[in-house]
Amino acid sequence: MKLLAGKTAIVTGGSRGIGAAIVRKFAEHGANVAFTYLSSEEKAKAIEAELQGMGVEAKAYRSNAAVFAEAEQLIKDVTADFGKFQIVVNNAGITKDNLMLRMTEEMWDKVIEVNLKSVFNLTKHALRPMLRTGGSIINMSSVVGDFGNAGQANYAASKAGIFGFTKSIAKEVGSRSIRCNAVAPGFIATEMTDELDEKVKDSFLAGIPMKRWGKAEEVADTCVWLASDMSAYVSGQTISVCGALNC
Ligand code: NAP
Repeated sequence: MKLLAGKTAIVTGGSRGIGAAIVRKFAEHGANVAFTYLSSEEKAKAIEAELQGMGVEAKAYRSNAAVFAEAEQLIKDVTADFGKFQIVVNNAGITKDNLMLRMTEEMWDKVIEVNLKSVFNLTKHALRPMLRTGGSIINMSSVVGDFGNAGQANYAASKAGIFGFTKSIAKEVGSRSIRCNAVAPGFIATEMTDELDEKVKDSFLAGIPMKRWGKAEEVADTCVWLASDMSAYVSGQTISVCGALNC
């Protein structure tokens, strides 16, 4: 069953990792997909071609999620190319980890801009056209936003900010049939987590009740559900995808 037939989605950071899994799953479920990348142009173009081969409209846009004006331009470009859209996934994110004693102002600002201000940037520009169509906004947070993590105060703050933002938007635009939810992955095998020291990985693994890392596709499946009409009365919520890490 194709859950997203007739819908168009915008996904930030679709060139790698969880975002790449989301755009593939959305296309499998019949959605047309506009997605962004920042530096991975070759990967983005390859995914664009792959999605087009699946019989949906697809286009990759180079757009820095941290920059307000680029989010505005993205919405103009997607509207010109696709007409309208009903799904927005704010997925782009980075880490710049260090203990607070060693964290620089630049490390703080960069993570807040890419992970949290980006969610404001795109939601701000996407909302007005969505008032006409209704739809679903999905914000990629993290279990770390809930329980914190030594060495990730900047990342945890950015992801915790997403929880409050998500609930507020759900309340502001619920009457216009726009839903807004957050997804909080646990530890998912992507390039972001591949950078971690082996010892840190082992200690994380020991704390996961399901005793394995999650897959990007498992986060993407949750996004398909939140984007689809199967979750038509679900809004203002955080869905954890974490192998029972956060319960
Ligand atoms: P990843 O493999 O490092 O991929 C990050 C993606 O974000 C890439 O497509 C990258 O694009 C894009 N991106 C980064 N900065 C950007 C910017 N300024 N503008 C536009 N795109 C940008 O990371 P991931 O593991 O898939 O993580 C995706 C999201 O899930 C993030 O928000 C992350 O915080 C969250 N998350 C991940 C985990 C995990 O365990 N992996 C757990 C919880 C939450 P380019 O390569 O083109 O630059």
